[in-house]
Amino acid sequence: MFGWWTRARRRRLIAKPAASNMRQYLSANLWQWSYLPDDVTERALDWLRIFAHEKYWEGCGGFDLKPHHPWLVAGQASLMTLAFPEWFFDGCRTLLIYPGDYVAPGITHMVNGQIGIHGDQPRSGQTSYRGPVILNWTAIYEAGRSSNDGHSLTVHELAHQLDFDNGPNSDGVPPLPKHVNAEQWQRDFQMQLDELRDRARIGYTGLVNDYGLTSSSELFAVSSELFFQLPHELAEHHPELCDLLLACYQLDWREWIV
Ligand SMILES: [Zn+2]
Repeated sequence: MFGWWTRARRRRLIAKPAASNMRQYLSANLWQWSYLPDDVTERALDWLRIFAHEKYWEGCGGFDLKPHHPWLVAGQASLMTLAFPEWFFDGCRTLLIYPGDYVAPGITHMVNGQIGIHGDQPRSGQTSYRGPVILNWTAIYEAGRSSNDGHSLTVHELAHQLDFDNGPNSDGVPPLPKHVNAEQWQRDFQMQLDELRDRARIGYTGLVNDYGLTSSSELFAVSSELFFQLPHELAEHHPELCDLLLACYQLDWREWIV
């Protein structure tokens, strides 16, 4: 939990007027923004100003980071926390923004409890336990402009940060509200992964891409993207999966996005 001083500092921050062009920028560049009810917009605005202010942002690979760039990432992140206004992805302190895809040097990460090592490879984004979130601006921007066929790199990488909330293993289990039985949720989520894999083997192509089927962690990240980018389609094609995400994010986008 935050100390009183953190709360007081945040209160002081949001008591100051927001940058004069912030609302206009978000309306123009974050497609979900205009669907939010007015009171929710104000809540999201407060949250994203704190997130943008408290994180360390750096432009990489020649990316000329301007003050408005963090607004869009923070705006996309704010949608994930509307039911949890005091969740600020505390496991991540740094966000690195590249102009486009980048080549990641050999990386080490955990896959189902095992250490996986990969050589250099082109990447769109990545994150790790207590590590930075690395994103590329082209993907951030495209997910802000439209539902983007269900893709949102920001949501994907931050969903991994939610997954890391219970430790360094990417087990696909996010923090869940107290009234949700976490063990049951995990069993049901694994069942969804098993079913989707079975269906993929017989040629069924749903909304979840192959990458989402590689692990429960990737299924959580990919289905979170769909939850925020294509909520009606996710509910139609994968109702049980959608219900599990509803239990996590505690908010039904279908009520707002029509
Ligand atoms: Zn991923």
